[in-house]
Amino acid sequence: MTQPCGCDNTMNVVDKIRRKGVSFLELPKAFEIECSCSHVFMMTTHEAQCEACNMVYGVTPCSSDSIENVVAVGIDY
Ligand SMILES: [Zn+2]
Repeated sequence: MTQPCGCDNTMNVVDKIRRKGVSFLELPKAFEIECSCSHVFMMTTHEAQCEACNMVYGVTPCSSDSIENVVAVGIDY
């Protein structure tokens, strides 16, 4: 299934944003992420990594308006 923004659901979020080249574009607003390791950090770009456990997080530009859309894809992904 393809979404209006051109995203499809066959890849995870981080694969999508890397393919789009937006990993290190700044988010419209930063998100405060509470990692599964309990470390809290500010996510300011579409791709971010917890500096405590190296878990990688991502959000697509078309869904970057809500922290609920931030996805953890794996440690050192
Ligand atoms: Zn962590």
